[in-house]
Amino acid sequence: MKRIVVKVGSNVLTREDGTLDTTRVSALTDQIQALRRRGIEVILVTSGAVACGRSLVKAAPGLDEVQQRQLHAAVGQVRLMDLYYRLFADYGIRIGQILTMKKNFEPGEEYENQKNCMEGMLESGILPVVNENDAVSITELMFTDNDELSGLVAEMTGADTLIILSNIDGLYDGEPQAPGSRVIARVRPSDDLSACIGEAHSSAGRGGMHTKYSVAKRLSAIGIRVLLANGKRDDILIRLADAPADIIHTEFS
Ligand code: GLU
Repeated sequence: MKRIVVKVGSNVLTREDGTLDTTRVSALTDQIQALRRRGIEVILVTSGAVACGRSLVKAAPGLDEVQQRQLHAAVGQVRLMDLYYRLFADYGIRIGQILTMKKNFEPGEEYENQKNCMEGMLESGILPVVNENDAVSITELMFTDNDELSGLVAEMTGADTLIILSNIDGLYDGEPQAPGSRVIARVRPSDDLSACIGEAHSSAGRGGMHTKYSVAKRLSAIGIRVLLANGKRDDILIRLADAPADIIHTEFS
């Protein structure tokens, strides 16, 4: 691994009541710091803004659903970045925030600006922390979810690996809860496992296995390895880097 994108889902970062799981965020910060010490460049794509904002403030009665989401995103994003800022600063790591939108990934000036910005940050040793600009991008302007966003970021930055952390261990060969279902260890670009994917969506974020699978298939076909793993498992990022055979996950490559 030389340059990786780590995507962390809302379900990993928040507790059941929607509040930010500061212990978990702190553990992930430690692991990202450890990877950087090994010379691996990391770009973090983080969800959790909307879920976090929802637990912090109550929207005024009368706001429609879109306005409520915008409000929660705007408030939650600050809380999220404040926590990352402080935790990474303890290690002497400076972070920079990039809030982006789907249209910024169309070929053109905005795409180039965004790419140059991330390259400049990486070159300067700054950790880019990316999320969708949820306060501004609504309905059809949105990414399907941050899994889609993280795939586009991995492609744009020429990363060799994308690690998608959610609250399940990987792609199962059946319903994840069903007895006898197992996590598939390796998926080749030519394998068609679409029959294994349920329609279940994550409870805190927008993501589900459907986008994870299609992002992973698309990226592995162009030579970017994708790992789906459980962000609630201790030291997951370190274990994926050091001894992937010993930790349950799905690799698309
Ligand atoms: N961008 C959203 C947030 O930060 C999450 C989108 C998703 O669930 O993938 O809350």
